[in-house]
Amino acid sequence: MSSTPELRVDRVACTGHGLCATLLPERVHLDEWGYPVVEDPHPGRAEGEQAVTFCPARALYWADRA
Ligand code: SF4
Repeated sequence: MSSTPELRVDRVACTGHGLCATLLPERVHLDEWGYPVVEDPHPGRAEGEQAVTFCPARALYWADRA
């Protein structure tokens, strides 16, 4: 059985650029320190891939649900 991968943030690698919240405004918001909170980890594959690709810190990634 396959599971739908979730979009996650590597909080150690993330440098808080906020680009992911700009690219996925309905799925990610920034906390009071400017770091992302993923509210909905299941964006469309294309929009999620765009955010993963453009994250300047390579901190966004897809993970299989455990
Ligand atoms: S774009 Fe990448 S580095 Fe910037 S806030 Fe999002 S996860 Fe962090």
